[in-house]
Amino acid sequence: MSFVEDARWFAVPPTAPACGTSGRVTLVGAGPGDPELLTLRAVKALRGARLVLYDHLVSKDVLRCVADDADLIYVGKQAARHTLPQQSIIDLMIRLAQSGRSLVRLKGGDGFIFGRGGEEVQALAEAGIAFDVVPGITAAQAAGACAGIPLTHRDHAATLVFASGHLRGDNEVALDWEALVRPRQTVVIYMGVGTLAVICEQLARHGLAADTPAALVEQASLPGQRCITGTLAELPALAQQHGVRPPALIVIGEVVALQPQLMRGMRGVQPALA
Ligand code: SAH
Repeated sequence: MSFVEDARWFAVPPTAPACGTSGRVTLVGAGPGDPELLTLRAVKALRGARLVLYDHLVSKDVLRCVADDADLIYVGKQAARHTLPQQSIIDLMIRLAQSGRSLVRLKGGDGFIFGRGGEEVQALAEAGIAFDVVPGITAAQAAGACAGIPLTHRDHAATLVFASGHLRGDNEVALDWEALVRPRQTVVIYMGVGTLAVICEQLARHGLAADTPAALVEQASLPGQRCITGTLAELPALAQQHGVRPPALIVIGEVVALQPQLMRGMRGVQPALA
């Protein structure tokens, strides 16, 4: 398979295809990293793809599902290093499809959950390009399952909120803090490692108890997975102490208190021996 590390150098045929038909785009959720967590439909799309545009969070093991002779283009984004601006990725996809090439647009987790997949397929729809969407296991689901945190539980959490801790251009974390501090709720925050201190401070200021159980789940489903638990008040210091780095999720709510018991069970260790 041929890797194109810098998408700006990828040659797009300038003219419309001879037959006049556009290619099709398949937006595929790559899941959290472990290839066993790909859906069957995702594997089928990857195996059949001739061209794949993939993001930063797509694991090397997932990329191994792509045929050897397919073209792979990295268009990933990291917090401080945008390989291609979002509009350029959209333009590239549209030009490729209009030139007659079908492609897979591969995104970490689920493309419609903090993955800008919505914006991309909107642009495809506007350009009259046909597309499909293949869901993926989102990081929150993987973190819950792999780290032993049931995201909902009849005794502890009847509501589940996914939020983004991403810093906006104006240096604000723009979240509806009142909505995040409601009782019997689990809050999972994506892209929040860099803003963890602000997030915990704002949640406390808006009334969430300092001793609310909280966790950081780093590299969920991957060999380097770590889960660090504590309380809302302790979490920023724990993150520093353990050197937590993206990709990681913040999970806040009573369900986190179940983690040690469930982890023991998942490891097959008897409580008496744990
Ligand atoms: N579309 C993706 C999310 C992309 S936003 C999804 O559905 O999962 C990127 C953020 O997702 C990261 O900053 C991190 O918070 C989270 N994330 C992605 N993969 C992860 C993983 N394997 N473990 C922990 N967090 C992860």
